[in-house]
Amino acid sequence: MGVSRRKFLQGGVLAAAGVALSGKPGEASVDSPDIRTKGAKVSTTICPFCSVGCGLVVHTKNGKVINTEGDPQHPINQGSLCPKGGALFQIANNDRRLQKVMYRAPGSDKWEEKSWDWALDRIAQRMKETRDKTFKVKEVNKKDNKEYVVNRTDGLAFFGGAGLDNEECYLWSKFGRAMGVGNLEHQARL
Ligand code: SF4
Repeated sequence: MGVSRRKFLQGGVLAAAGVALSGKPGEASVDSPDIRTKGAKVSTTICPFCSVGCGLVVHTKNGKVINTEGDPQHPINQGSLCPKGGALFQIANNDRRLQKVMYRAPGSDKWEEKSWDWALDRIAQRMKETRDKTFKVKEVNKKDNKEYVVNRTDGLAFFGGAGLDNEECYLWSKFGRAMGVGNLEHQARL
């Protein structure tokens, strides 16, 4: 005897309802394992990938990230995440992640490991050299051919990122302006 599609679906729904009613509410199956986040420390953070700024809940055990998921209490995303944000735990748990400063000198074909102090001094030194070389006090405006005080450098550019919070963005842009940098951008706009 043939079974129509409608009868088949009706049978499936009744079977599922029977299974659901046979268990006691809230009672886990004897075979179900503990959820992997049981006993983990819970923290919240912001996704660093784009300017939407979705909130996440992070579970850690023994100092290691074991799970990340959308924060249902965050007003921006209310628990949802895009695929990039959904894979955020891979940033923390990734043996290909660089955790040390690697430097390749101009013209060299190999990378050298350096300290953070070395890198910060080097960045400061190169910023100062570039600024000194390219700083303009005055510039002629092409529209009216008059000279104006500009006090800026076009030799440097500043990039912000979505990992920065409001206050950090404020300080970053103030620092850029104080250096005379006019080219300030954000990673998410590029
Ligand atoms: S990358 Fe995705 S999850 Fe991250 S802030 Fe942007 S939209 Fe949200």
